Amino acid sequence: MRAIVIQGYQFALDPTPRQQGSLASHTGGARFSYNWGLELVTTRLAQRRAGQDVQLPWTLAELRREWNRAKDEVAPWWPENSKEAYNSGLDALARALKNWSDSRSGRRKGRPMGFPRRRKKHHARVACRFTTGQIKVLPSRKHVQLPRIGVLKTHESTRKLARRLEQGSARSLAATISRRADRWFVSFTVEVERAIPTSNRRTSVVGVDVGVRHLAVLSTGQTIPNPRVLEQSLRRFRRLNREMARRMPSSRRRSWTRRRLARTHTRVANIRRDALHKLTTTLAAEQGTVVVEQLNVAGLLRNRHLARAIADTGMAELRRLLGYKTTWYGSRLVVADRFYPSSKTCSRCGWVKAKLTLAERTFICEACGLVMDRDLNAARNLAKLVQSVAQSGWETQTARGADRGTQLAGQVAMKREAGTGSCPGETGTVQPQGWTA
Ligand SMILES: [Zn+2]
Repeated sequence: MRAIVIQGYQFALDPTPRQQGSLASHTGGARFSYNWGLELVTTRLAQRRAGQDVQLPWTLAELRREWNRAKDEVAPWWPENSKEAYNSGLDALARALKNWSDSRSGRRKGRPMGFPRRRKKHHARVACRFTTGQIKVLPSRKHVQLPRIGVLKTHESTRKLARRLEQGSARSLAATISRRADRWFVSFTVEVERAIPTSNRRTSVVGVDVGVRHLAVLSTGQTIPNPRVLEQSLRRFRRLNREMARRMPSSRRRSWTRRRLARTHTRVANIRRDALHKLTTTLAAEQGTVVVEQLNVAGLLRNRHLARAIADTGMAELRRLLGYKTTWYGSRLVVADRFYPSSKTCSRCGWVKAKLTLAERTFICEACGLVMDRDLNAARNLAKLVQSVAQSGWETQTARGADRGTQLAGQVAMKREAGTGSCPGETGTVQPQGWTA
């Protein structure tokens, strides 16, 4: 079966100082329109509460109408940027407002969404999405063209995408520019035609647990080590974190450390993502069913423990990548219920330990005496979940929350591509290569 899938290709940019100014101006424009719209909505909500009969702009079209009416006055400099910049900001706001109202009315699952907040200069992820105009990957394979900003040099070759576009097996939909730490990226969202296997004859089941001291542990007993460069970056990361704690608030040294920390963080994330890409491709292509853990993603970022935070983001990334790759390769992804105690359960006899701290690297069963590496035990439990479900009839067990078939996983992968609200840095299948932070 052939199917159209949405895929992201991301490239690190090498802009001239002038182009950097233009990139920053566009993402700044997006942030401005977002904050402007948010303030408008907040004011109108207050007016409504006070009993006044005022229009409440909520959708992108309504917000855009209000913006066009007000832009000459509130942002007389608006012609400096493409109108897509302001559209990006308003689009992100409309999504945030919808998420909030859906969450309140129970239409949206998951953690309750807060009312959108202002995007502060140094905290918000800056991005601007272009959907029309001159969006091109140039034949030199070292340059891309964007509306208003012009021809930009890329750090790595664009050949993987360029080849697909030239052959006609991909169609470009949009380009999003974004900045992470000190680096600018462009991410192309394209429609790609792929052959999707409809049936999966492989019967193997593998459970995967992501760790910190190693990249992952499989239920087969195989340990996938961390890339060596990652270890160095992690050490540096810990050192900078300690250094940051000693710096005086709002001092110049503090801002130096903050920038260095941000760069190191990006580097750690990139190395890990690259390694996870390789791992997930192998798993999706070679296994019949892959079982991973469901994570409480909302709690991730608030976790103060560095090690746990890194492992958790790795797990979330692993799951996301497997989501679409299992669809591509015709294998199946099963996500265990969030409350399934994979680390605390004995993989031999099923006894559940009351409390297992992060420092305990070895699982010791008090019922049957099993002694096993903590992550391996967890991975075995994940694999067992599917094996027991398979024995008792797959369909009947979906209520356990164990089944997330490939169909749903595919949708998850696509949904993230849809707008500026998603992170283009995470949608790519091509990772920035050949550069160091
Ligand atoms: Zn046991």
